[in-house]
Amino acid sequence: MKSLYDLSYQQMQEYAIKQGWKKYRGHQIFQWLYRKRVDRIDAMSDLKKETREVLEQDFIISPLTLKERQISKDGTRKYLFALADGSLIESVLMSYDFGKSVCVTSQVGCNMSCAFCASGLTKKNRNLTSGEMVAQIMYVQRDLDENEERVSHIVVMGTGEPFDNYDNVMNFLSTVNDDQGLGIGARHITISTCGIVPKIYEFARAHTQYNLAISLHAPNDELRSKLMPVNNAYPLKDLMTAIQYYTTESNRRLTFEYILLKDVNDQIEHVKQLAKLVKGINAYVNLIPYNAVDEHGYQGLSRNEAMKFYDALMKEGVRCTIRKEHGGDIDAACGQLRVKHLKRKGE
Ligand code: SAH
Repeated sequence: MKSLYDLSYQQMQEYAIKQGWKKYRGHQIFQWLYRKRVDRIDAMSDLKKETREVLEQDFIISPLTLKERQISKDGTRKYLFALADGSLIESVLMSYDFGKSVCVTSQVGCNMSCAFCASGLTKKNRNLTSGEMVAQIMYVQRDLDENEERVSHIVVMGTGEPFDNYDNVMNFLSTVNDDQGLGIGARHITISTCGIVPKIYEFARAHTQYNLAISLHAPNDELRSKLMPVNNAYPLKDLMTAIQYYTTESNRRLTFEYILLKDVNDQIEHVKQLAKLVKGINAYVNLIPYNAVDEHGYQGLSRNEAMKFYDALMKEGVRCTIRKEHGGDIDAACGQLRVKHLKRKGE
């Protein structure tokens, strides 16, 4: 059954009109969902009983249930959810001094097969619906409501490739970004892609204010194709051309993500190649400490080794940062909580 979270503000009003109701009913329902954040249709007390009955026939509210929640000493919370069809997905809440950020899953499994990533250990089963993504945010927001805190940032960096589920991701973001929805500012929202070039053009032309992050991870085609098979379809030259188009069209800076993998992409020659590659692009490089995934055998760098790479890159004139790690004491690495559960079930 469809979830009420599947409908954007505009779609909710269109639905109301289609039912022969006033457009305002759509507005009211939206208010119940995102302001009062009810989890039952019959709690929408200013709607007529018949209206609620129609809604109940057509919709559920939340399409997910909690399976497990882990809380780290640093405030990171990790949620494992089951969807209506039994699929497992995870979301992560991270606490920063600038606010609370949720890392959202966009697909059940992933087809991109990046060599270092836990998500690709299970192939994509299906795309998440827009409502299943909204529901992740709403669950976490309700969890935070107890302390009167709010989700202020979203990163679409959980399991899945968001640009392989483009329409649903954009619909989801429009609901959480809408002033009538959660009102999370577009500039507080980041979509991360492994580099699906045609979608980068589509995204550029959509002229949203969302931030774009590109998973680069290697500064030459040979290495990048080894780590990220998507590079065979969209090699660096095509990717960089698309990125130039995006930064020019949007007049916005983007982020390159670069996981530091010991003895793989961390040599001085990589620093030089990376500097050359990103030169002249309105971007900065975010160096990411690697969360080791047992099945893959890659290793991360020590803090000191990472600092050396960082210093060398800075010396080349590249703006860069090192990402802070979160939730080291829980199953924090990307996709690992889910993979652990699937294994336990013998899938
Ligand atoms: N498919 C999208 C978004 C999901 S992955 C993408 O590729 O960007 C989000 C980020 O986490 C990507 O940069 C990805 O390469 C990185 N990542 C994956 N596995 C990781 C791991 N074990 N440790 C650190 N970062 C990882």
